[in-house]
Amino acid sequence: MLNLSHLEHEIIDQYLYDENPSRPWIVGFSGGKDSTLLLQIVWNSLKKIEPALRTRSIYIVCNDTLVENPRIVKFIQKTLDKIQVAALDQELPIIVEQTIPKLNDSFWVRLIGLGYPAPNKFYRWCTERLKINPTTRLIKEKISENGEAIILLGTRSDESSNRAASIKRHEVKGQRLRKHPLPNAYVYTPIKDISTNELWQYLNQVPPPWGGTHKELVTLYRNANSGDCPLVIDDSTPSCGNSRFGCWVCTVVNKDKSMEGLIDNGEEWMQPLADIRNFLIETRDNPEVWREKRRRSGEISDNLWGPYKFETRVEILKRILKAQKVIEQTEGIELITHQEMVLIQYHWFRDCFFKTKVSDIYNRIFKTQIDMSKHDEKFKQEEELLKKSCKEEPKDVQLIQDLLALQKTKTLMIKKRGLQADIDNRLNQYLKELKS
Ligand code: SF4
Repeated sequence: MLNLSHLEHEIIDQYLYDENPSRPWIVGFSGGKDSTLLLQIVWNSLKKIEPALRTRSIYIVCNDTLVENPRIVKFIQKTLDKIQVAALDQELPIIVEQTIPKLNDSFWVRLIGLGYPAPNKFYRWCTERLKINPTTRLIKEKISENGEAIILLGTRSDESSNRAASIKRHEVKGQRLRKHPLPNAYVYTPIKDISTNELWQYLNQVPPPWGGTHKELVTLYRNANSGDCPLVIDDSTPSCGNSRFGCWVCTVVNKDKSMEGLIDNGEEWMQPLADIRNFLIETRDNPEVWREKRRRSGEISDNLWGPYKFETRVEILKRILKAQKVIEQTEGIELITHQEMVLIQYHWFRDCFFKTKVSDIYNRIFKTQIDMSKHDEKFKQEEELLKKSCKEEPKDVQLIQDLLALQKTKTLMIKKRGLQADIDNRLNQYLKELKS
């Protein structure tokens, strides 16, 4: 059996003799093989420490982008439940925390509500909003409660040459911890030198201390032809790229080998998801059909396209809801939430799209009557007020909507950089239109 006792000694030493006895540990957990091995070794090390000395809290942080592969979500949820129950039973100071993106940053709100194009490697707007920000919020919260925190990551040099280079770049010889870009945060990567062969050997031989076996994890990897999508905590983490357990909507990779692998291995119910993903690629790669010529800033240029047209956004929503209708019944999986739909409707009103309403699309597909009228009413009143105020210059309605949308986008990004320039561009465009 593979002996990892040297790692356990190191972890025990770090836990007991750290210069700051109260800073908590935050273990990034994605449910994949690397973070599973990391947690397992941390857990086994902790068990070897006298209960009275186990005073440092260990948070297991798992982020859900809300567009994770649904098959993997089910598996991770089951694992997290087991971890929390077992930690309580075994009296370990382990607490499971799950993070999600802010509603206005959700993939569907950005894509269908605001018309962001499906991401590619040059415009990967999603990673920060769906992954980095939610986890960063939690890390900051723990730092503000405790002064400092140590983040444990399951990064391994053997996983890819990119990761090996990244580990080497950040490593400080002779030191276990390295500084994280966030103030008072440190990073610890105890399993960085474990090879992939050793990792599988260990997981195949040693059952998880939270109960059960690693059989399902091994089968998922086998069926999904997949690598890991680790907890992403900063921009230095490579893209979730290539084969990975990541978002099922991901268009940054050309082929979603993990979803294809699962479908080929009997999870045919995922085919509608693969079709939606392929449609997103089509909308992104053929902007002349699916996107506006004019950008939100008002700029029109030959090689830069604006947001998705309204018809494109409606089409994407229809496809999601049609897939949801089938999958909800057979698998109990929701692809888009009610709150997301309400916010999408809000953005449509803001963009002056009044012809089609989200609730109408939903009701037609589900043959039901969900009621968004409370929300509709508020936006209609706002719109009426605006129209009244711009009675003499009706063109101003669109201008004001655009300026509001610009302000809102930049505010939510917490970066107002460029806002003034965008407003100037939009106003210049307006003046040009007035003159012509
Ligand atoms: S997996 Fe793809 S869609 Fe999800 S955050 Fe990463 S790059 Fe974006």
